[in-house]
Amino acid sequence: METYLKTELGNDYNKEFIETYLTQGPEMVDFFVNEIGIPFNVQYKMPDYHPTQPGASQGGRSLHVKPVNGSILGKELRRLRPLMRELSLFGMGVSSGSDLSHFYKFGRSVTSTIRVMTLLTKYGYDMVRHGRGQALVNGNALIARLARALLDLGTPIWTSSPANELIIENGRVVGAVVNSYGRNIRVRASRGVVLASGGFAHNLERRSAVYRHPALADEHISLTAPGNVGDGARMAESAGGYVDVDVKNGGAWMPVSRVPRPDGTWGAILHSVNQGKPGMIAVLRTGKRFSDESISYHDFIENLIAHPDAGRPAGAFIICDHRAFSKYGLGYAKPFLPIGKLVESGYLYRAKSIEDLADQLGIDRATLSKTVSDYNRHAANGEDPEFGKGENAYGHYLGDGSGGTNPNVAPLDEGPYYAVWMYAGDIGNFAGIRTDANARVVSKDGSPVPGLFAVGNDMASVFRGRYPGGGSLIGPAMIFGFVASKYMAAEAKGAKPFA
Ligand SMILES: Cc1cc2nc3c(=O)[nH]c(=O)nc-3n(C[C@H](O)[C@H](O)[C@H](O)COP(=O)(O)OP(=O)(O)OC[C@H]3O[C@@H](n4cnc5c(N)ncnc54)[C@H](O)[C@@H]3O)c2cc1C
Repeated sequence: METYLKTELGNDYNKEFIETYLTQGPEMVDFFVNEIGIPFNVQYKMPDYHPTQPGASQGGRSLHVKPVNGSILGKELRRLRPLMRELSLFGMGVSSGSDLSHFYKFGRSVTSTIRVMTLLTKYGYDMVRHGRGQALVNGNALIARLARALLDLGTPIWTSSPANELIIENGRVVGAVVNSYGRNIRVRASRGVVLASGGFAHNLERRSAVYRHPALADEHISLTAPGNVGDGARMAESAGGYVDVDVKNGGAWMPVSRVPRPDGTWGAILHSVNQGKPGMIAVLRTGKRFSDESISYHDFIENLIAHPDAGRPAGAFIICDHRAFSKYGLGYAKPFLPIGKLVESGYLYRAKSIEDLADQLGIDRATLSKTVSDYNRHAANGEDPEFGKGENAYGHYLGDGSGGTNPNVAPLDEGPYYAVWMYAGDIGNFAGIRTDANARVVSKDGSPVPGLFAVGNDMASVFRGRYPGGGSLIGPAMIFGFVASKYMAAEAKGAKPFA
């Protein structure tokens, strides 16, 4: 992994940070597995995102938390933030590891159809009985298990209670002012304050100053929690810290489409699962492709926003034919659900020919036709000489290996044809509060701000704007959270763990 990260990070490789990450990572996992009782599955099939680099893993590096029943939280379950509607199926969480592939094979494989019907029946039962699905997966399962551990320790968890201001005495951060249901409460911290407010992806001013593409309202979509408005950054600055923007990418990028809701509001859905499927390509407003669509979502959007024709807002159309649509759907449009309303609302474009689709998308007919026919000519043999789609193991992991010569490549030749507009979006920040390798917030001269730590998306990423593989955000968040806690515990005893 060290070899891989050296190649990935190049001049941004910081020995001290990476050593902490590599030595504390396994300790953190051992701690959560053995002492807190949080079980993980190893994702053997998921390769690193740049699997041909020296040291890259072809599978077995990423961890998934095991699903859990919401009953472990008892009545506290109601405080667990519900899933974003568009990222769930009628509110039901779908495990990105095991179950997602069954949904895509619904109606085409007996095993998958039975699995999906079982999940939906159980979800229906939970809704009638509890008003909410009880089978928690992915991030919901991790947060539920972490919350259970805190509740067992008797630790109070305040929700809807933003911290607004740090309490600083004699140059040391000794607490924070927290607004709990309209009341300002001064909370004193005996060992330190850890900023973990999730970064600034919903702060239009900060993000548009840091992201390289236009990122004001309606130009960029963040899938992070709506309250991630940079409170941590503001508080760090008030105590002498600063936001490090000198990173390769200010955000962890994701192609995202904007889904209209019946009540006039809108939600959003990510396209990482269909961008690299066979029978799909992405084109700019010019009607031309710009990237291998089967690379990681982060690299795909990095290529988009670096392209001179990315336009404003930066974005692209993802296009597919009926064969691909009926297997994988397109964004929020699912092959097993009615799509009429999505077409009417302008979310999903549908046309009987590529030329008619071009007219609907406002793209020159001849250009889009040429793009598709050039692609199709080679796709019939499972090849993509223009961008090399389907040549790497990560692409294959997200592709469809059930038929054809290339899991990521198939011609678009069976009408009708479909398209959805994808924006540049993010799932978190890489730019963030500068810390040392102990997660202590530092000032511009490198000296630590006593008593103040930053972790998660608040902290400037150890990967400096690169996305080496699955877990590049949650992994460092958990490792440096663990490191900050160990540091505070050791400091209280007069020792320093990693100084
Ligand atoms: C759809 C999606 C899929 C993802 N998949 C992956 C993945 O597979 N692997 C991976 O590594 N990462 C993934 N991520 C990213 C990952 O979820 C985030 O990086 C991670 O949750 C960040 O943790 P955090 O604690 O820093 O912030 P968050 O989880 O965003 O939590 C921050 C919390 O702080 C609260 N807050 C804000 N301001 C204040 C304040 N002033 N006082 C108190 N609270 C405040 C917010 O409301 C929020 O609840 C994904 C993200 C999304 C959106």
